[in-house]
This record gives sequence, C-alpha cells and structure tokens, in this order.
Amino acid sequence: MHAPAGIDYGVFNKGSFEPPPGRDPFRPNLPACLTGTFMGPDAGVSRLARSLTSARPAPLGTFAERLGIRMKITDIKALRLRAPLGAQGQVESRTGVRTHRYGFLVEVHTDEGVTGVGSCSGNGLLLESVVTHVLKPLLVGMDPLDTEEIWDTAYFRAGVRAFGSRGVGVVALSGVDIALWDIAGKVKGVPVYELLGGKRRDPVEVYATALYPEETRAAVEKAEKLAERGFHGIKIKVGFDLAQDIEIVSAVRSALGTDFPLMTDANMGYGLDVALAAADAFEKLGIGWLEEPLFMEDVAGHAELKARSGVPVALGENLHTRFAFESFMARDAVDVLQPDVARAGGISEVRTIAAAAAERALPVSLHTYGDGIALAASLHLAAALDNSAVMEFDYNENPLRGDLLLEPLEPKNGFMRPPDAPGLGVTLDPEALQRYHFGGGGDLALWRRTLRDAG
Ligand code: MG
Repeated sequence: MHAPAGIDYGVFNKGSFEPPPGRDPFRPNLPACLTGTFMGPDAGVSRLARSLTSARPAPLGTFAERLGIRMKITDIKALRLRAPLGAQGQVESRTGVRTHRYGFLVEVHTDEGVTGVGSCSGNGLLLESVVTHVLKPLLVGMDPLDTEEIWDTAYFRAGVRAFGSRGVGVVALSGVDIALWDIAGKVKGVPVYELLGGKRRDPVEVYATALYPEETRAAVEKAEKLAERGFHGIKIKVGFDLAQDIEIVSAVRSALGTDFPLMTDANMGYGLDVALAAADAFEKLGIGWLEEPLFMEDVAGHAELKARSGVPVALGENLHTRFAFESFMARDAVDVLQPDVARAGGISEVRTIAAAAAERALPVSLHTYGDGIALAASLHLAAALDNSAVMEFDYNENPLRGDLLLEPLEPKNGFMRPPDAPGLGVTLDPEALQRYHFGGGGDLALWRRTLRDAG
C-alpha cells in the first residue's frame, strides 16, 4: 500500500491501539485496506491533483459533442420489485427486521434505441410517483448524454420545489443518473469505469456486512467462516445493548486475531454518552470504524464523538447529495464517507462527493445494500475513484442481487470486479423481473409493523 504523495492521512493517527506489523502506519486504527489502494506507487497523484482542480468532474456531454451525437430521452419507466426472504435472511439491525427485499429500477429509453437501467434504494410507492410525475415530464426530450445538465435540471430547477432538497426525490434522481451513465457507456462502447477515468485498482477489495446480534458463539463461528472466504474485513452490527455489543465484538476479535479488519455499525442506535463508551471499548479492540453511531442529522454530536474518541467515525448511507456530506466534513465530524450510489444522487453525485472528500484526504467506502444494478454501479465507482477504500458487500440473502442479473456479481476471495461490457455491463434477467415484480403497498406496511413491534 502506498499513500499518494502530498496526502496527509494523519487525521486517523489517533488512539492507543498498537498496529500489527504491516498495518498502514499512517492510520493505526484503520486497517491498511481501508486507506485506499492504487495501482502503482505514484499512479494516483496526478489524477488526484486534477480532481482537486474542480469539485465537479467534466460532464459526459463532451462525449456527445465529440461524437456529434444528439440523442433524446423518449421515456422513463419505473419497476417495483419485492422478494421474500427465508428465515435465515431476515436479519435485524437497529432499523428493524427485514422480511423482504424491495427493489426499484428505472429504465431510461432514447430515440436511438439505447436503453439504460438504474436503481433506487427507497420506498417504491413514493419513488414511482416522483419518477412518473416529476422526473419523466421534466427530462423527456433532453439529451441523455448531458448528465450534468439533467442532474441540475432535475435537482435545482424543479426538483427542489417538487420533492425537497433531500429525501425520496434525490433517491429517484439517483436511479435516473445511474441509467444515464449506462447509456453513455453503451453509446461510447466502454464500461462506466472508463468514463470515470479508468481503473485505479483492480480488483476491488470488499468487506462483508454479515454479523447481526446473535448468540456470541454463533457470531464467532460465522466470522471465522467469512474470514476463511477471504473477505477484507467484517462488519458487526451493534447499537443494541452496549455490554452485549462489546461482548460480541471482543469475542470476534479474539477469534480472528488482532490483524483482521473489524468494523462496527450502530445504525444510529446510540446516544452520545453510550457512543463515547462504545468507542472507548472498540478502540481498545482495534476496531476500524464505528459506523452511524448517532442519529444521522446530529452533525454536532458526531463532531464531538470524533474529537473525543480514538475510533474513526464512518457515516453517509442515509445522506443525500454533496451538501449533506459537506455539512459533516465542514465540522470535522466524519473520518470515512459512505455514500450509497442508489440514494445519494447517483454516479454523478457520488463522484462529486468523493472529489470533495479527496480535498480533505478522506477515504470513501461505498455503502451497498440493494440490488444487482446498484452493486454494479458501485463496483464501477469503487474501481475508478481515487480515494475509494474497501467497499461494502452485503453478505446476506438477497434474491434481488443474486437473481436479477443474467451474470450475477459475486465476490471471490474478498475481491470483486466491475463488468467490462459497455455501460454498467450487466443484463437483467427477464424471468427474474417478472417473478419479483410487485404492485402492492406492502413496502409501507413493513415499517409500520417493525416500528410497532419495536415500540
Ligand atoms: Mg450501515
């Protein structure tokens, strides 16, 4: 692992945990694989320098101009999906128990016959309404290669008034944006990672999100199996009962040794006092980060926690747009940024967020939870972004990830690769789309039931 010249990673250099031999000396508490890897010792420097000259990378519209192509969006279609989970797949975090996986796909059609697909991570009923009644009327007729103009039109010129500056509208826009990058890659005949400037790492290292609150012995056995499978880290769900959280994390640490990257995720389950105590315990256990320790809007709380604790603070899966991330970075309230491409504003916005993070020498570790399309988009970003650290892989039952693509994307020995075919490089399985197509309203009922049960 080589840190690019001129980048000060000292922000992570805190805490008393003694790094094992081979661990990145710049950040004792952060495993080396979390600091971002580059294909060569100096490969990232010039690109990083370029990325700092502009918070907004060059728009794709330049391709259209170069190629002399003018295309038009003719339609935007929405598809809601639902897949039931078996008992083993119904995991519980502080956000509730999931009995189903829900998906929402966006298909953007053009007058050239090229079609792009994108994914949104949110409530299908609401997303369908925004896509159909706000974004489609607004964007039909625009050139799909003008990604920046489309994003700005949808967000600034109409979207903010129609659906607000954050929330479901931005999630809907995320799916449309992903579909536009798919179209751009297909028109140019290159994979999305090439449009993003080419691979900075190959393959992409992934860690497993897989340990939920369970009997300690069972958690340890599961962790040992995941480590054997070669994952570059394991994330443990905490945020329930502090004593139990520490017991499980300690047991897993003892079983896997001090060198194995372990992270924790509280899903906003702690208050500040408990988060400080948890961070103190996790620091002694050499935990790579504490994720979403507090309520997502509590910028001041995260800033205080970061200042007073020795464990890096990670967050971002519930934040929308560069503006939300900026509020945390400006207050020095985050160490590791975790945007979700299907929520934060799509490929365009995650790229912008990553560039802003790079200015502060902060790594981005992409959050992934959704379907195969979101996973493919994340892999293209993770391969191409200068400051992309180890990427999340949700290692739980998810038919919308495994079944939706004709060629599913699966980790091998803790590594993944973005597809090399043009665009996102994936093909949807029409039978799976039919099987999981969903027209009901149960995606709202899920949360009502969960909250009532929890309350
Ligand atoms: Mg999380």
